[in-house]
Amino acid sequence: MITNIGTIFAQSEEGKEVTVRGWIHRHRSSGNMVFAVIRDHTGILQVTVKKDKVSEKDWKSSNDAYVESSLIVRGTVKKDERAPGGLELQATGFELISRGEPFPIAKDLSEEYLMDIRHLWTRSQKISSIMKARHHIVNYLREFFISEEFYEVAPPIITKSGCEGGSTLFEMDYFGEPAYLTQSSQMYAEVFVFSLGKVFVLAPSFRAEKSRTKRHLAEYWHLEPEMAFYDHKMNMELQEQMVRYVVEKMLKEHSELLKTCGRNPLDLEKIKDPFEKIDYKVAVERVNEFGGKMEWGEDFGADEEALLTKDQERPLFVEKFPKAIKSFYMEEDPKNPEVVLANDLLAPQGHGEIIGGSERIWDYDKLLARMNEQNLDLKNYQWYLDLRKYGSIPHSGFGLGIERVVKWMLDLDHIRDTIPFPRTINRCYP
Ligand code: ATP
Ligand code: MG
Repeated sequence: MITNIGTIFAQSEEGKEVTVRGWIHRHRSSGNMVFAVIRDHTGILQVTVKKDKVSEKDWKSSNDAYVESSLIVRGTVKKDERAPGGLELQATGFELISRGEPFPIAKDLSEEYLMDIRHLWTRSQKISSIMKARHHIVNYLREFFISEEFYEVAPPIITKSGCEGGSTLFEMDYFGEPAYLTQSSQMYAEVFVFSLGKVFVLAPSFRAEKSRTKRHLAEYWHLEPEMAFYDHKMNMELQEQMVRYVVEKMLKEHSELLKTCGRNPLDLEKIKDPFEKIDYKVAVERVNEFGGKMEWGEDFGADEEALLTKDQERPLFVEKFPKAIKSFYMEEDPKNPEVVLANDLLAPQGHGEIIGGSERIWDYDKLLARMNEQNLDLKNYQWYLDLRKYGSIPHSGFGLGIERVVKWMLDLDHIRDTIPFPRTINRCYP
């Protein structure tokens, strides 16, 4: 029977005979002793192999092993203060499953090289811890929406039209006709508010982002809820409730993992109070006050968002943006037609935008007028207009970038480490 390394520590299996299956994490030999640290998906364990305690074949194997050789080790668990976690395995058997070749990753390699061998670097403790945390975050997001009685729906990835502006569309040849990889599934999510009430999509979105930043990917995972009969205010309340849910779950269930990934859980404890809400107008004033320079009508870039959030302990809502810098489908503020009922949610400590949401225009004529104003090619959007023709209703929704949330929650410097194979302007390999 195989025992997971995590179980050995959890049950403190001191004195027990166990068999562990895994990979060599670190390795050194000195005379009659081999020291190895081995890992499986649950943890790492120090192993000592003494020449006189194992067969000749196993002794040879333990000396021949490379970093990342796969193996099966049998032995007795002993207390050892110096070992990571205070336990070590004294081997009685050491069998290589595959010795392999010398592993190409050692210390002090450039970030570029690590990206070239990403398929192997994913085995590192750093990336595997982040992938575990990402799994839990996505899981809690789903759990939240399912507990709120949302249905998950499946959108198409290949589309005829974008909804976030033509400059970041990836065009493809669809049997001789142009088509695009989707920038957002929002319009398809909207279809379902008429039959399912509250829905969400979790799917990739594609943006041909032409600049290099620490928070843009060309392919990212996009969570897009859409809710029948929700207005702008209810939309923001839901966003806040969702963020709070995931943060609380991560703190309660995975605070050690947060620490391993580099996030101090105490920072996340602070977000319990209600999130501050400011109008775009106030946000612009703040940016200028904090040493930035922008005018009404301009959009926030990373620098402006960093200024707005660097001293914030909680996420910050910015709402009521100028119509001109937001998408065509956003409802005007009845009190001020210059601005739309849209919000961004900015993560604290400089991380910036994690969510963009809005109340959607639900009146046919209004939507048509806005689309004409923006010179959209109506034939590709006829179906979307149709939704407003037959029993239209007020509705709202938002889009959350999974990688942006992971970057913030784990306090990572760069978005590339939040996804196994980041796609950026200069990389689509491996
Ligand atoms: P930004 O201003 O940061 O480019 P955006 O306003 O273009 O973002 P939206 O179109 O509102 O973003 O998309 C909704 C959410 O999707 C964003 O709040 C963000 O979390 C995420 N997102 C957008 N573009 C990217 C990208 N290129 N890579 C990763 N996540 C993204
Ligand atoms: Mg963008």
